[in-house]
Amino acid sequence: MSFLKPTLIESEFKIMTQMNDGHRLFLQSFMSRGILNAKEVKQLFKICCLKYKIPHPENEREAQAPLLEFVRTINNHIEPFHMQIRKGVSEDDGSSSYGLVCTSESTITKLASDYTPSELEFFKKLIEIIVASDNAEVGSTETLNLVSRLENVKKLSKDDAEDLLSRLETNKWIKMTHGKISLATRSLLELDQYILEIYQDDVEKCNICKKLCLKGQTCPSCGTKLHFHCASKLFEKEENPKCPKQGCKKAWPYEIRRTPRKEETIYSRTPEKSQKRKADV
Ligand SMILES: [Zn+2]
Ligand SMILES: [Zn+2]
Repeated sequence: MSFLKPTLIESEFKIMTQMNDGHRLFLQSFMSRGILNAKEVKQLFKICCLKYKIPHPENEREAQAPLLEFVRTINNHIEPFHMQIRKGVSEDDGSSSYGLVCTSESTITKLASDYTPSELEFFKKLIEIIVASDNAEVGSTETLNLVSRLENVKKLSKDDAEDLLSRLETNKWIKMTHGKISLATRSLLELDQYILEIYQDDVEKCNICKKLCLKGQTCPSCGTKLHFHCASKLFEKEENPKCPKQGCKKAWPYEIRRTPRKEETIYSRTPEKSQKRKADV
């Protein structure tokens, strides 16, 4: 069994910091697929390693550090072009996904190559009604009615809008469950700056992760907002959860969702410690 030790010798380190064909294949997959979940990222890493004979630990846990280093190398090379592979978290279940994000543009026009001006305008209006809704989700009838609100662009029929919604879902920008439409992790990852800028008076950031929070729980006393998964982590061992905001600390009146213990990320929260524990076994 071959695997890279956490402490790389200098020559190995130099190889790791250069972009090779493995890195390029990994990056191309991100470019074509847009967003991948943690499991898909791990599989892709393995494929790239096998194809280009890069050492890959058989044990998934031991593959975390090399994978993180691999992504860091790619990010070092693409950051001058304002691109970055970044982690996003689902507001529904706290699961992680990774997307190739353009860091220089906060506008929605970065989607322009895939959608027509009318479609982009429709998507903007959809974001507007999702942000304004109570639970960050809207019904499909209300959504299709947006076609009558398009201004200064070519009109869309309801059939066009349905086709657009299905493409937005396929490309992982939106989620459609039980007739309800909400923004998927890719939108939160790539359009958070846009939403925070345009709707700065209407949206909040989560008190724990400091990221845009559309779906979550809100303190009835002070308005502090927490993602469901952030509340789960924060109140995991609390018998009487209280609002985390300094100066509030009122009782948190919601049921706390228990998230699955095994969180799917490409790295553990405390890599050093987990590696040491692993070595002891
Ligand atoms: Zn959060
Ligand atoms: Zn509060």
